[in-house]
Amino acid sequence: MRFYIPADVYVEKDCVKNHAKDILALGSKALIVTGKHSAKGNGSLKEVLDVLHAGNLPYSVFDEVEENPSVETVARAAALGKSLAADFVIGIGGGSPIDAAKAIALLMANPQETEAVLYTPKPLKALPLLAIPTTCGTGTEATPAAVLTNRKGGFKKSIAHKIFPTLSLVDGKYLAFAKKELMVNTAVDALAHLVESYLNSQSNVYNRMFPEYGLKLWEQNKDALLSNAPIDEKLYENLMLASTLAGMSIAHTSTAVPHGMSYDLTFNFNVPHGKAVGYFLAAYVEACEKSVPKDVRTILDLLKLKDSAEFADMVKRLIGTYEISRATVKNFAERMSENSSKLKLAPCELSKEAVWEIYEKSLVITD
Ligand code: NAP
Ligand code: FE
Repeated sequence: MRFYIPADVYVEKDCVKNHAKDILALGSKALIVTGKHSAKGNGSLKEVLDVLHAGNLPYSVFDEVEENPSVETVARAAALGKSLAADFVIGIGGGSPIDAAKAIALLMANPQETEAVLYTPKPLKALPLLAIPTTCGTGTEATPAAVLTNRKGGFKKSIAHKIFPTLSLVDGKYLAFAKKELMVNTAVDALAHLVESYLNSQSNVYNRMFPEYGLKLWEQNKDALLSNAPIDEKLYENLMLASTLAGMSIAHTSTAVPHGMSYDLTFNFNVPHGKAVGYFLAAYVEACEKSVPKDVRTILDLLKLKDSAEFADMVKRLIGTYEISRATVKNFAERMSENSSKLKLAPCELSKEAVWEIYEKSLVITD
């Protein structure tokens, strides 16, 4: 049993201001990596710039990271960072800019390498990285994963390198700028991390601390997520904490089958990550229930749900359903049946038939 999260993580109000010294200690020139709009709107970018200005620390901003970031974008940002001789990276935003920042920090630290190295296992170090999440879903501030879209290769998946942020500053107040749908989708991603970490061949009594506590916290947000009313700002910190704990969960076990299934939906149809994962979650829970009923019962108890049917109903109320043609889904299922790296993480044997059953239960299939 191993406990390993080598990131300094603070979850607290105003942590960017509170930890100005720690930020300035990361290096002497920063490359800030973010998306097009949200970091400007939710105040996170300004807070970081205030700290850098006060500390007379030079920086440049790369604000072109798209959702589900591509290898091409990462390569462009890394080239900019190298030309400026920046010596640390600050990722601000949802999972997309922060994952991109991890890969950029790796390429900048290894200027002799091309972007081909991203998917090549090799013992390489990244530049120091500060992560400031502004969505409540990926937990990337506490994971070593960076998921990129590889258009040339025709797939979306984690790069081959494990890159923990050096420092992560998690402040729920940035959620005030987020639409309810974004909060729901990303909270479903966090739920998936908690569930997939618990129902995982790598889980053990030690690393289950994280999903157990995370599920408890997630339950406290359940009614607010399900209601039509806007989310009370008192819950922002709780949503973020649940998301960070969910990140700590998958940092130990990795994500399992629903994440493996989600990537084809996002790559081919641009389905937002949380939704794409969420569609497969209930059927995965049901598939596991046959062999690990006690573990599923624990998850349901922590979420205060009667049974797995109620779990399925809750997820459906949160994200709805997805229609897809039979030919397409057959293709996806064929590929997933070969994905041994994800299938081996399920706590039970999932045959080709069992994989197909998950797809059939999860999506609305049209002929
Ligand atoms: P995202 O793709 O980072 O962002 C989605 C949208 O939300 C963007 O339009 C973004 O706008 C906006 N946004 C972000 N923060 C906001 C805020 N506070 N208020 C209003 N709008 C805001 O979404 P995400 O779900 O957080 O990240 C998804 C990515 O993370 C996927 O690529 C997924 O595969 C990956 N992921 C990584 C891990 C991991 O461990 N590394 C785990 C799970 C998922 P802007 O573009 O303008 O910023
Ligand atoms: Fe995820």
